Amino acid sequence: MGKRWTGLLAAVLLTLGVLLPAAPAAAAPTFKVPFPCGQSWSGQTRTDHSPAYAIDFNRTDDLGDPVVASASGTVDRVTDLGGTSYGKYVRINHGNGYTTYYAHLNGFNVSVGQSVGYGKVIGWVGSTGGSTGPHLHYEQRLNGSDIQVRFNGALALYWGTKTYTSDNGCGGSTATGTVNTSGTPLTVRSGPGTGYDAVGTVADGATVTIYCQTSGTTVTGTYGTSSIWDRIGTGRYIADAYVYTGHDGYIPNVPRC
Ligand SMILES: [Zn+2]
Repeated sequence: MGKRWTGLLAAVLLTLGVLLPAAPAAAAPTFKVPFPCGQSWSGQTRTDHSPAYAIDFNRTDDLGDPVVASASGTVDRVTDLGGTSYGKYVRINHGNGYTTYYAHLNGFNVSVGQSVGYGKVIGWVGSTGGSTGPHLHYEQRLNGSDIQVRFNGALALYWGTKTYTSDNGCGGSTATGTVNTSGTPLTVRSGPGTGYDAVGTVADGATVTIYCQTSGTTVTGTYGTSSIWDRIGTGRYIADAYVYTGHDGYIPNVPRC
């Protein structure tokens, strides 16, 4: 390779470097109180809890009350530890290293590998494992480590007992869209933009479930120009400009990611 070409290559790489910035670090999901819309629950944190930042939730006559996913994701554990520790528990993987735990359940309503969205009932409040009375033991973790719980971005009370009212799934739901690319498969990205890794494709004409929407790279597609991206699975996003949803812009009742 001659000197002239080396210089040209350097210029090309420099240009690519400017045009293809690294994907930004992913923000935390918007976690919601893990009970159905409108319910109020007493949540207790305490310094001798294990792990320290977990919350124990109670309300009157709570045995058998439904527990819901606090954000969209994929169920990756549905485990019964018997009479010790968490007893019957569910873990949801929300992507980008975030997981949530729901312990001492009376029973399960999901299975491993299942995609869940806000408000999805995953099980029922119980007193299994090392529990001495019905309650929900709830945790948020990042890369496996216990983190201080946030609901809608707001830090929970450390330390003490506080009433939390759920807006989980209030009028919010998933939507169905139809991919329209006029032939070419549509690239699925790991985040809401063309700078994120390609993690697969969806065929022209495919039906997709949209769990939430967010803004990202502006894309011109079959339905015009839009910066909206649709999350169709854990770590799976497609440009809304190629998706027929029946709505221009954001879909009413579908949450922001
Ligand atoms: Zn607990």
